[in-house]
Amino acid sequence: MPEQLDFTGQVAVITGAGGGVGRAYALDLARRGAKIVVNDLGGATDGTGGSDAMANRVCEEIRALDAEAVPNTDSVATPEGGAAIVQTALDRFGRIDILISNAGILRDKTFAKLEWTNLDAVLDVHLRAAFYVGQPAFRAMKEAGNGGKIMLTTSASGLFGNFGQSNYTAAKLGLVGLMRTLSLEGARNNIQVNAVAPVASTRLTGGETDSGPRAPSRVSPLVTALCHPSCTISGETFMAGDNWYTRVFVGQAEGWAADENLAVTAEDIADHWDTIRDPSKFTEPPHALVSMATLERLRDAESPSN
Ligand code: NAD
Repeated sequence: MPEQLDFTGQVAVITGAGGGVGRAYALDLARRGAKIVVNDLGGATDGTGGSDAMANRVCEEIRALDAEAVPNTDSVATPEGGAAIVQTALDRFGRIDILISNAGILRDKTFAKLEWTNLDAVLDVHLRAAFYVGQPAFRAMKEAGNGGKIMLTTSASGLFGNFGQSNYTAAKLGLVGLMRTLSLEGARNNIQVNAVAPVASTRLTGGETDSGPRAPSRVSPLVTALCHPSCTISGETFMAGDNWYTRVFVGQAEGWAADENLAVTAEDIADHWDTIRDPSKFTEPPHALVSMATLERLRDAESPSN
């Protein structure tokens, strides 16, 4: 039996925790001793409306587990809302160790029909919210000096593209870029940052279920494991759900390194598409400054001294 991952003394802020996978994260962490800020606007799946019923209901479920929780209904979609969500943790529990930025909405439209209101609403709740909630959380973790964990929520749609979701996919892949940079900036303060692409039956995907492999509770184990203080993984993206857990990464093919003295033309490129695109030999640069390392290696291998 692996050792139980205990969260006693830890404080977690989870946005959009009034239902779906956010609720599953909240229940799993609470069951393991964490104190939870259950944030949820309580609106419709397109982000309209609002109510405190969802956040309150999950807080009651957590209290029934003999754990502590406080509801919060601020919107993640504004800087003021983001600050108030994090402040709730500091006021009520005196600290923040974990942020799971999870709240989400959908405004699907094909690109040709997309209206700017549907672009703004989706960018605000998914991408900008990670800044609005993430920055005060990051600052509080840095100031406290205890390290911390930040989870951002991406999507298979963002990672791989999906018809009719230009606004959502752009926001979701933007979150991966943010996660990579936050992971680099957080390292010196022992703050680990990762992204999860959940796969679960929720009201956002057509109907919530509490059982079977598509239950949100099959996503939460991966997030719980990443958020435990003993976990050192950072800067990575995972898909989780349907009882399948897998890392998704950006790889760089070895490509075609032309002779340095060749004035490369479009015809040369057209002649080398197979080599340029061949994914069989790839590397995974840890950050942008080493994204030319493969070229240096290829040039070194070519140099007459070798
Ligand atoms: P869900 O609708 O059950 O949960 C999202 C929650 O966010 C809702 O409870 C909603 O009230 C809340 N919310 C919306 N706008 C908010 C705002 N402005 N402020 C605070 N709370 C707000 O759906 P879910 O499937 O559990 O989605 C959770 C996250 O997972 C989302 O980011 C979604 O894009 C992502 N995701 C889910 C799946 C899936 O298969 N379920 C797939 C890919 C990505």
